Amino acid sequence: MSVPEREPLRLMAVHAHPDDESSKGAAATARYAAEGVEVLVVTCTGGERGDILNPSFEVPEGHEFETIEGRRAVRRLEMAKAAEALGVRQQWLGFVDSGLPEGDPLPPLPEGCFALVPLEEAAEPLVRAVREFRPHVITTYDPSGGYPHPDHIKCHDVSFEAFAAAGDPDRYPGTGEPWEPLKLYYNHGFSMNRIRAVHEAVEGAGLESPFGDWVESRDAREIPERPVTTLVPVADWFPNRDAALTAHASQIDPAGFFFAVPRDLEVDVWPWDEYELAESRVPLPERAPGEYEADLFEGVRSEVPA
Ligand SMILES: [Zn+2]
Repeated sequence: MSVPEREPLRLMAVHAHPDDESSKGAAATARYAAEGVEVLVVTCTGGERGDILNPSFEVPEGHEFETIEGRRAVRRLEMAKAAEALGVRQQWLGFVDSGLPEGDPLPPLPEGCFALVPLEEAAEPLVRAVREFRPHVITTYDPSGGYPHPDHIKCHDVSFEAFAAAGDPDRYPGTGEPWEPLKLYYNHGFSMNRIRAVHEAVEGAGLESPFGDWVESRDAREIPERPVTTLVPVADWFPNRDAALTAHASQIDPAGFFFAVPRDLEVDVWPWDEYELAESRVPLPERAPGEYEADLFEGVRSEVPA
């Protein structure tokens, strides 16, 4: 009798723009992929309205960055390199970046952009992707988007909708066999616990902290902190995260914010990626305050047929 192969675990990380997968939960996706989990990054938009945020960026030969199409092509090249660095598969949903509106009053969003697409229409390709890939766990952003970009808020909305609807045979007909994911998480890369710990360690080492203003402004604004439930140990995969970040050369300055904390210090002070468990369809143990889950697949591993 042959031993049936265990069904692989599958993780879907839904993000708004190319580069978000490299700045939020990146090391965790690299770790799970290295451990044999099938990992699919889903990117809602092409990042067509991201400005050049890296002064040392040079537009690749044969490309231009002035038009929507030109930026889309450049950012696709960057995304392919980032996915390779993380060891994950990646899929585009095909929506167009809404841009980050600035000014007072705020200008209207550009016609046809992701944030303006009605929810059911915007969620449909993600429901289809969930029914095709059949993830056990999905990660996305919290309802505020984690950062007030209209595409990040929309990314939450479509992910929440897909998590709720993909298993229901009456919803989204024609998008494949129903599939019910078991857990939904929100990325939390910048909890105050992390910022304070890293800030103090950097200053303690006599260096300039990138988080100084941040600590003060967050304290002043008294933004209620969302609960972190889950700390996944990922220090061994920080080099993959860093390679993925630098792959997004138009967006990430290798001398900038994301590289301002010395890596040896980061490994000592904050070797985790942080998440908030938003929904679970599997039973989970009770935890006392200050106790964290360490695995996105906790409670899932025993549910997946061997
Ligand atoms: Zn983004």
